[in-house]
Parts: sequence; structure tokens; C-alpha cells
Amino acid sequence: MSDQKTPRKSAFGEVKGHIDALATGFKYFVDPHRMTLDYPAEAMELPKNYRGFFRLVDEKCIGCSLCEIVCPSNAIVMMQLPVAQSPAPQAGAQAPARPGPKVKKRPVVDWGMCIFCYFCVDVCPTEAFEPSSIHDLSYFEESEYRPTFEGFLKLPESPSKNSKKVVAKLDEKNGIKYEEKGDKE
Ligand code: SF4
Ligand code: SF4
Repeated sequence: MSDQKTPRKSAFGEVKGHIDALATGFKYFVDPHRMTLDYPAEAMELPKNYRGFFRLVDEKCIGCSLCEIVCPSNAIVMMQLPVAQSPAPQAGAQAPARPGPKVKKRPVVDWGMCIFCYFCVDVCPTEAFEPSSIHDLSYFEESEYRPTFEGFLKLPESPSKNSKKVVAKLDEKNGIKYEEKGDKE
């Protein structure tokens, strides 16, 4: 073990440190410069193609499982879902040569494991995922971020859907300030 000890500040240095901290607190009390966003009243304008939550368009999916195979975080599970069967043919009518499948395979994403890399969106041969930039969701229960198949068919609603959209600007005095999109600089 080393005998070296962390050098102690002098009593004067410690008192000065406390005075500096109090002075900083007082300065921001009398002249506040808010650098945080007033969310959800304000929300950041996101860049185009920001990768947020996405949904499955059931009619486009062919159940090929490519999305499950490519997912690097094992967030996709292929579910076996029953397919509605057509009514039985009338007496004397010719039965279809090949009856349709009784189940279909469809992906469901566990949002707790998804890293929003969009590999699955890009690999899908039928563009069966509808992307969105929605990203600001929170959950109370663990089970809520594991959607059911029906839940995966619709996009979630963003809490900042109706927020004033702002962009961050560097400001010499305040560090960061937020301006409404379209404001003059
Ligand atoms: S976005 Fe990436 S991590 Fe999320 S489900 Fe798709 S492939 Fe998996
Ligand atoms: S979503 Fe696309 S990649 Fe995934 S199973 Fe359906 S068709 Fe295949």
C-alpha cells in the first residue's frame, strides 16, 4: 500500500471553496439562466429520420423472420397467430385444392431490449415496419414495454405531440438556449 495521502486544503482554501459555492448559488438565484428544456411544454425538433418507435403493418408482413434473425439484441420474437379460416364449402361445392395456413408468423418487439438500430426496418423485404420519430415514452410496469401483437400494430402517442418545437442554440452568456423553430437567430 502507498503511504501517500491526498494533500489537505488549507483552512483558508476550504472556507474560500464554500464561499465560492454560496456565491454561485446566490448568483443563479437572483439572475436565473435556465438551460433545461421546459418539457413537455417544449420539445426538441428532431432531425429527419430520427429512429423512434415503429409499428408493424400486418397486411405487408410475409412472416419471413428476417427481422428476428438480424436483430442484434434479440428484441424480436416471432409469434404464431391463428388465421381466420374461410367458411366450410357448401354441400356439393368443390373444396379448395390447397387449404390456407392455419397460423401466421408475425414479429413483436420487446421495447425494453430494442436499441433502435433499425436493422429490422432496413432488412424487411416488404417494408412492413412503419417508422416514427416518437421516442419520449415512459412506463410504470415492466409488462407495458412488451407489447402484444395488437399493441404492435399501432404507434404509441408521444407526450410531446402538441409541444412547442424548439431548437438548441449555443449562447455566449447562457450556454444553451432554446428557440422556437423558425425564430430569428
Ligand atoms: S431496431 Fe434493432 S434492436 Fe430494435 S428490434 Fe429492430 S433490429 Fe432489434
Ligand atoms: S416484418 Fe418484414 S422482415 Fe419481419 S417477418 Fe414480416 S416481412 Fe419478414
